[in-house]
Amino acid sequence: MTFANGRHYLAIPGPSVMPEEVLRTMHRTAPNIYTGELVDVTRACVRDLKVLAGTQGDVAMYIANGHGTWEAALANVCSPGDRVLVLGTGRFCQGWGDTAEGMGIEVETLEFGFAGTVDLGRVEETLAADTVGRIRAVLMVHVDTASSVLNDVAAVRALIDGAGHPALLMVDCIASLGCDRFEMDAFGADVMITASQKGLMTPPGLGFVWFNSRAAAAQATAKCVTRNYDWRPRANPERYYRHFNGTAPTHHIYGLHAALGMILDEGLEAVWARHRGLAGAVWAALDAWGQGGPIRANIADPAHRSCAVTAVCAPDGAGQAIQDWVKAKAGVTLGIGLGRTPEEDYFRIGHMGHVNAHMVLGVLAVIDAALKALEIPHGSGAVEAATGAIAAAA
Ligand SMILES: *Cc1c(COP(=O)(O)O)cnc(C)c1O
Repeated sequence: MTFANGRHYLAIPGPSVMPEEVLRTMHRTAPNIYTGELVDVTRACVRDLKVLAGTQGDVAMYIANGHGTWEAALANVCSPGDRVLVLGTGRFCQGWGDTAEGMGIEVETLEFGFAGTVDLGRVEETLAADTVGRIRAVLMVHVDTASSVLNDVAAVRALIDGAGHPALLMVDCIASLGCDRFEMDAFGADVMITASQKGLMTPPGLGFVWFNSRAAAAQATAKCVTRNYDWRPRANPERYYRHFNGTAPTHHIYGLHAALGMILDEGLEAVWARHRGLAGAVWAALDAWGQGGPIRANIADPAHRSCAVTAVCAPDGAGQAIQDWVKAKAGVTLGIGLGRTPEEDYFRIGHMGHVNAHMVLGVLAVIDAALKALEIPHGSGAVEAATGAIAAAA
């Protein structure tokens, strides 16, 4: 017996659910790539992307996934032999560091483990020890999608400034933009990156790199810059085709335009509050389950949890068993465990982008059914707690 028929739900941290508006606008014949509507729509995307990021800086667009933006961002500020400082709080910043290493950049990694945020004291010591200013940039993730930790970007900026260190602050907001509050200029990020398929509700394939005037100045001495990655013509093209160094990703641009319109129509504050409210339901369920068994949020402190994704510890193979059960019996795919061993001992719930209360409550309810069916010890009342959290927040 299965209850999986009906529309399948991909509750993973990207690619996220695509709104009908995004899908509909992409269903069209090839547009003119020289003049007319596409050019205007692209211009509107650039304007909206700056509002979304909270910056007066520039944005360059790439035909790329998140990994591509890691390389694009590094290429514009680094030279071979430069050093970058990686703040590891899960898996993704280390991945960015691996990309740097592959480009001939020296990488110094501070590991903070899988269950918490950045230890600011250690960052401060590292910057203080770098008396000759060898560290060209500090790399951090706003949200690490593997551990689901939310890191404090403004606090790292304050440390760099306090140490009088010249390093640029580069932030990966691939999981968090459009979900967790992020304001590039107010938080003091010099470079920020994201991709289209998470909070931005658009198919994978577009990558974005925002940069401020400090980062633009640093680019003048960077030797990793290539024709394709150079962010100058992309941000300020003298001809339309230079936006993408060739043929534009026509249909993605239409999809992105629709998605950005939806986000800005809802309002950034409302979008962040919605994600916070839905995350609150997930956390309430986890608290209840944890009262009678080993299921718990990977990040213990709610202040350091992302509102876009939640990593859930489910030991002794329960993580894999729950994923298998909800997929086969209830029509939901959960996010796999990533970056920790054994990986079957946890799973992730994506609650980013085009999600609402019935989607999140549905996911929690079928996980609750899985715990019962699989006889995994757990506290009762999780669905009750989650609906209570939604009722209170609404
Ligand atoms: C998803 C993600 C990436 C990688 O993006 P891809 O599009 O899969 O290359 C990098 N960093 C973070 C924080 C992510 O969530």
